[in-house]
Amino acid sequence: MKLTRLFAASIAILALLSSIMLGRILWGEWNNYSNARVALRTLQLVQKSMLAAEKLSFERGPVNGMLGDALPHQAVRVDKLAAARAASDRALAELQLAIDAGPAPSASALAALHRVRMALASARGNIDLLAKLPREERTPEALVAAVEQMFALVPIVMEAVNEFSRSSEQSYPQFSVILLNARYAVELREYAGRLGSQLTAALTAQTPLSADAQRQILFLHGRIEQLRQLIKLPTSSAAGDPRLLEAIRNMELHYFQAGLTLVDEMVSASHEGRPYGLDTGQFAERYVPEMASILTVRDVLLSASLEQARAADGTARRELLLACLTGALTVLVLTLLLLILRQRVILPLLRATRALVRLSKGDLSSEVPSSPRRDEVGDLLRALVALRAGAIERQHLEVERQHLIEELKRSADTDYLTGILNRRAFTAAGNLRARSAREQNLSLTVIVFDIDHFKSVNDCYGHDAGDQVLIRVAELARRELREGEILARYGGEEFVVMPVYCDLAAARAVAERMRRAIEAEPLPLADGHILRVTASFGIAVASGSDSALDSLFQAADLALYRAKAQGRNRVEG
Ligand code: GH3
Ligand code: MG
Ligand code: MG
Repeated sequence: MKLTRLFAASIAILALLSSIMLGRILWGEWNNYSNARVALRTLQLVQKSMLAAEKLSFERGPVNGMLGDALPHQAVRVDKLAAARAASDRALAELQLAIDAGPAPSASALAALHRVRMALASARGNIDLLAKLPREERTPEALVAAVEQMFALVPIVMEAVNEFSRSSEQSYPQFSVILLNARYAVELREYAGRLGSQLTAALTAQTPLSADAQRQILFLHGRIEQLRQLIKLPTSSAAGDPRLLEAIRNMELHYFQAGLTLVDEMVSASHEGRPYGLDTGQFAERYVPEMASILTVRDVLLSASLEQARAADGTARRELLLACLTGALTVLVLTLLLLILRQRVILPLLRATRALVRLSKGDLSSEVPSSPRRDEVGDLLRALVALRAGAIERQHLEVERQHLIEELKRSADTDYLTGILNRRAFTAAGNLRARSAREQNLSLTVIVFDIDHFKSVNDCYGHDAGDQVLIRVAELARRELREGEILARYGGEEFVVMPVYCDLAAARAVAERMRRAIEAEPLPLADGHILRVTASFGIAVASGSDSALDSLFQAADLALYRAKAQGRNRVEG
């Protein structure tokens, strides 16, 4: 797998794994957070529904007052009932509002609420009808039935309370005991209310308690004592809370000592046939305020659970935030690391690989990327730069060597003085030409020429002047020859020419041109003299089959000898 693909695949796998991991963490934290929110909201619902239960309990007091009142009703009693009803309606409306704004509540909680509204409307209707009757016409059965209708309301609200408590406890099981205790307190308040109500008929009529009322009072007493013990059990998470201890102490003082003692006094008076000394309203005025201490216990428990829920909500929110931040930081750091890895390792390695491949193919033209970094990748790139520099150096040396070889070869073939071919090179080239003439059956021609009386040039003008003459004569001869015709200095002041395959007449014409050119050329010397030299030419032509260079040269040399003998400055052959 190529490095780039491997890198991309690694990034994809890493991204996938870290997203799954981060997703799981975030999902868990989000769940905690939304659980905490739901728990908080449902606790608020619990609180509001308990408040509604309390208001409905409370409404029974003014109802009792009204039902025990003779016509026309005292304005203060009418007002009290109206105020209590308004308070119940407000509590129910607030509960409804909280339900509408909160998380979807259970259907049974909603149904319970609906049932409460219906039952409340019907109970109030009956109470109003009964209250309009003259006091004598209000039969004990009708009174009991009306009060029973009011009693029936609180258990229905408690169904909703239980529903909401259950969903809070699902999110936070540690709330179960604290909420249970709050429910006990609500129940205690309810039973305390009922206990008071049991006295209503007797106090209204100022007659002894009925047997049924006495039974009920005994039962309620027992139940109230049970709830008192349950609330005092140090089991809830708020058990050590000084506010709760204070509230329980207060409840003992106000309700269990003052409130219950008042009830006991009324019961004793009934037993002993003494006057009660209080009518319904006066009893309610003394008894009802003592029940408020029970509600304080409830409120302390509720606010403790709300505080715990708010703390849990805050913690969940902080942990969610922390998880988000940690997640974002992880992604950022991972991305940065991958980018650095890509920038500092993968990309330089790829460039190095490409450069190495080019170097291995002999391509030295492209630059190798260098790096100032003092790490392994930097070392690798620097080594590559050095490798390329070494290769370029070797290439230069090789070129230089080739030049030298060519130079050497050229100087081995060249006459050092005149710059034309020397005898060795002529022999090699001439032999090649002779072989090809033989193969193609072409005629082969050799012209030999020698400067006349050259010794006297040396003698008269010095050796340097002789050298100048040799150089000039070679130049003149070269000028008269065409491309491909061989001219060489054979030795001393003797030259040899091998024209391109031509016959004797053509060779003679070539030789004649050279002879005339030499004869015509004035040669100025350093001392101001103008020198003129001549040369004698010998030609030999052989047919393709017997064109051996040696014999042909000898024949041309013989012809030259003849030219010398016949007076020089002439062509023979
Ligand atoms: P001829 O007309 O019969 O050819 O007479 P010549 O004087 O030219 O012939 P000879 O063979 O007697 O003399 C040749 C002279 O050429 C002798 C030698 O000193 C001179 N010579 C040979 N090579 C060189 C050279 O490279 N430079 C110079 N300056 N002279 C050379
Ligand atoms: Mg000569
Ligand atoms: Mg000679």
